[in-house]
Amino acid sequence: MPSSTITKRLVVFDFDWTLIEADSDYWVVEKLGGDLAQAQQDLVQEVQWTDLQDQLLRELHSRGITRQDLEKTLRKIPFTIEMITALRMMKSQGAELCILSDANTFYIDTILKAYEIDQLFTKVITNPAHFDDRGRLRIERFHGLDKDPHGCPMPCHENLCKGRELQKLIDSQLWDQVIYMGDSTNDFCPSTRLHSKDVVLARANLLLEKEIKQHPEMVKAEVLYWSNPKSALQIIQSIFGIVVSRTTTSLPSATQAKPQAYLTSAL
Ligand SMILES: [Mg+2]
Ligand SMILES: [Zn+2]
Repeated sequence: MPSSTITKRLVVFDFDWTLIEADSDYWVVEKLGGDLAQAQQDLVQEVQWTDLQDQLLRELHSRGITRQDLEKTLRKIPFTIEMITALRMMKSQGAELCILSDANTFYIDTILKAYEIDQLFTKVITNPAHFDDRGRLRIERFHGLDKDPHGCPMPCHENLCKGRELQKLIDSQLWDQVIYMGDSTNDFCPSTRLHSKDVVLARANLLLEKEIKQHPEMVKAEVLYWSNPKSALQIIQSIFGIVVSRTTTSLPSATQAKPQAYLTSAL
């Protein structure tokens, strides 16, 4: 029996700039908000990120942006064939896939459904979103102001300590291996929760790599760096013991997948 069929793996992904080749919060404001993109940049130091998104969506709503506009825009967000291939392969090998993101439930659900990969994930842990009775999208903090602060000393945002949520997933079952994939500062805390048999897949040259290199003693897991979806696919295939055919090496660094829902709506 190949080892991959007897190994129980948990694979947890950040979403923006990890699964997708964009930041969904910026994507929506840049595509639909015009001058609001600058406001988003200007206010980022002043207003907590989740609250800022909620305020920007209020402004978009007041300018007549509808749920359908948001959906249409989100469905065009770049998701590569390589990343989708990696996800399908991991799932077919029996891995449990989860998303741990500082985006929100509406953005992530819409994008996963557009690429017909929503069924691959067991859990999506992120800021809750809903449309109010006037059709405005509301985003709330995952770790709300009604709760005591999570108190994590790591560089975690006050609305979400990803390490704490990853720990709950780790503790929920006996895993042979846990893999965490991310790119940013708030992906450092979850990276420190893994053990020596586990793997951190850190996007190269971004803030997670910087954190890991500043505090190497805090990460017990093996750290593998990937620079684009193609190299991520190759690394993931090697972890899962998948033999890579030579033809894939001639692919460009990443290939944009075609979202099914977008194609349908364009007909
Ligand atoms: Mg990210
Ligand atoms: Zn934390």
